[in-house]
Amino acid sequence: MWVEALDLVLQRLKKSNLDFGKIAAISGSGQQHGSVFWKNGSEAILSTLDPKKPLLDQFGNAFSINESPIWMDSSTTEQCKDIENAVGGPMELSKLTGSRAHERFTGPQIRRMYQTKPEVYDSTERISLVSSFMASLLIGSYASIDHTDGAGMNLMDIKQRAWSKKALEATAPGLEAKLGTLAPAHSVAGLISPYFVERYKFDKDCLIVHWSGDNPNSLAGLTLNTPGDLAISLGTSDTVFGITAEHNPSLEGHVFPNPVDTSGYMVMLCYKNGSLTREDIRNRCAEKSWEVFNKLLQQTPPLNGGKLGFYYKEHEILPPLPVGFHRYALDGFKGDSVEGLKEREVSEFDPPSEVRALIEGQLLSMRAHAERFGMPSPPKRIIATGGASANTTILSSIASIFGSNVYTVQRPDSASLGAALRAAHGWLCNRKGSFLPIWFMYRDKLEKSSLNCKLAVTAGDQELVAKYALLMKKRVEIEKSLVQKLGRL
Ligand code: ADP
Repeated sequence: MWVEALDLVLQRLKKSNLDFGKIAAISGSGQQHGSVFWKNGSEAILSTLDPKKPLLDQFGNAFSINESPIWMDSSTTEQCKDIENAVGGPMELSKLTGSRAHERFTGPQIRRMYQTKPEVYDSTERISLVSSFMASLLIGSYASIDHTDGAGMNLMDIKQRAWSKKALEATAPGLEAKLGTLAPAHSVAGLISPYFVERYKFDKDCLIVHWSGDNPNSLAGLTLNTPGDLAISLGTSDTVFGITAEHNPSLEGHVFPNPVDTSGYMVMLCYKNGSLTREDIRNRCAEKSWEVFNKLLQQTPPLNGGKLGFYYKEHEILPPLPVGFHRYALDGFKGDSVEGLKEREVSEFDPPSEVRALIEGQLLSMRAHAERFGMPSPPKRIIATGGASANTTILSSIASIFGSNVYTVQRPDSASLGAALRAAHGWLCNRKGSFLPIWFMYRDKLEKSSLNCKLAVTAGDQELVAKYALLMKKRVEIEKSLVQKLGRL
């Protein structure tokens, strides 16, 4: 499927009469964590492709297993435990690789392959990620895994940006030789292979810049590039990306090397309960209308009189809690202190309070976890994206809770846009012969381009931001006790 996808894209571009000879550099975005197992001897197939035939016809015999494990697989709980135990526990693994073990991460997936299909593992000469696999097709030999996507494997020492011997040994024997070397995301993987020059008339000097994962590419597409930048994506699931200077390990969320710089980190939080949970409460409390939902939100005061809610329509990842709604009232909360205040569990809120508790709850959780990862408070700027970023009332709550300006982007598809920007970035670094920050490309030009973010709401009052910090502290305490009581640890 991955191979056929590249055939299809190129055929469609050819039909559109694109002049391939004008393309100076290509990069791309692959689903994070997915892997491809190349069979012994397959690099020879890659380097001797026949330009008269589509790619699909030539790779039938290239893989030791035809199915790619992808992020949706969650069958590796046992392997996650093995790996965590072997390195000294989940927090040690997070310190070492940027995340505790996760079922979808490539290391646990490889361990499972090694344990359940040893013949596949033994006959594999190279394991690529989806990103490095696509780059390999384009250069006609095995491309390196880039540092940022490599951090989604539980195998890379995140500080050294090199394979961790400890993690490799905990995963499968002889693994390092099957993974090849790592490379920075902005570096060049190679020149485009003769197959594409002959078949599509690409320029033979067209550069292939390392591909990376979809989330790192989204960060590049949203023009996040310096510490203190934060993006909040309110889609089917909610995600938060930020750039930090330091690595503060945590059991929740993920840390990857910054995909557009040689120093610093990209942190990422994922929430399963995003827009579908908001829709559920809108349908129940707000006549199935975002307009009514917004009115209810506006008619309630910030801080919601100390009402706090936890809404998990689906099993939540952050925090790891099962389906369930939990509501608490912090009687007497005025925003000046939580000292001595004890929360009281309640079975329901009136509809306006329910709507505010839902929105404030999610945003307070995002703020708390982002700060724990070392994001400054307030962030330098916040870029909101995803379906719910069309809702200015929700954006106003973001500005009040985080205390920073909130911007929106003009273009969707930030992952593919980010890959194109990274191709240009890699090309520029290659031409200069040294690394240049990505903002160099759009400095002074951003405002005139469609990459420019638009200011949607200005930062909220800092006094209110401090009051929210108190409510956030209380929320974190309640969250901890819920995880202790009900959590999947
Ligand atoms: P995906 O993550 O699947 O790409 P989108 O980013 O397109 O999803 O977001 C889709 C969601 O946006 C819908 O489920 C819908 O609930 C939500 N949405 C759309 N408009 C609004 C609005 N005005 N207010 C709040 N949420 C909205």
